[in-house]
Amino acid sequence: MGGGVIDEIFATFREKGRSTYLGEPVTLTEHMLQAAVAAEDDGADDELVAAALLHDYGHLIHDLPEDSAEHGLDTAHEDVGHAFLARHFPPEVVEPIRLHVAAKRYLCAVEPSYLDELSEASRHSLELQGGPFDEAEVREFQRNPHWRNAVRLRRYDDLGKEPGRRLPGVESFRPVLEAVLLG
Ligand code: FE
Repeated sequence: MGGGVIDEIFATFREKGRSTYLGEPVTLTEHMLQAAVAAEDDGADDELVAAALLHDYGHLIHDLPEDSAEHGLDTAHEDVGHAFLARHFPPEVVEPIRLHVAAKRYLCAVEPSYLDELSEASRHSLELQGGPFDEAEVREFQRNPHWRNAVRLRRYDDLGKEPGRRLPGVESFRPVLEAVLLG
């Protein structure tokens, strides 16, 4: 039954992954693959590579239009993705996914240069997501045991916006997903 959900995930990438990623010059599938490759290049473990590959899965499965942000709507894709994925993957995979938007708000608060380097689309969505954390929110974020990996995932996310890069197929990550799938 485990293999079933991985097949379902790959089918969803095929059906929904070709749309562009929120104003960035890559498709959603390219974006998530680039993030996964960045995680591998960084020596991340299977859980974090899987998190990078699936971090925007919520964008693939929610039913809101892709240009929602332009219309001032936060799709809360991190929660949509988490709700589905938490049924099949452990916290080491799904907590960084749930926290990857919070990690952006965290980095904007603690690293002044981070905000300046955000892409245009990402800066726009930041406002819809609540803006940089204040001090209390920073402390609260750091109470989650997975916060460091959420920040690492965020950096892979930010690296996944390069047009025209040669990439492996999503299916090449099957062994990684199988290794971390819940029994
Ligand atoms: Fe992303």
